[in-house]
Amino acid sequence: MTCSHTKTIKDVVPRTPGGCEECLKMGDEWVHLRLCLSCGHVGCCDNSKNRHATKHFHATQHPIIRSAQPGEDWRWCYVDEVML
Ligand SMILES: [Zn+2]
Ligand SMILES: [Zn+2]
Ligand SMILES: [Zn+2]
Repeated sequence: MTCSHTKTIKDVVPRTPGGCEECLKMGDEWVHLRLCLSCGHVGCCDNSKNRHATKHFHATQHPIIRSAQPGEDWRWCYVDEVML
């Protein structure tokens, strides 16, 4: 299984380096952070109760995120469901 979306990866700057964009607005908490590699949106992971990274994909169809956790450098394509 390969990913056909790697060309969509941009050299993004996190829009909200301090945490999940929506959780910060709501005053809510998250577990881990994911960075959208199309637009720089920072969202919380699927172990967080709000799952904003996945919601961002469903809202925008931006296919690829990477972990925003220090020391982690994996990427994930939501469309192909494959690690990059
Ligand atoms: Zn893909
Ligand atoms: Zn969140
Ligand atoms: Zn995005």
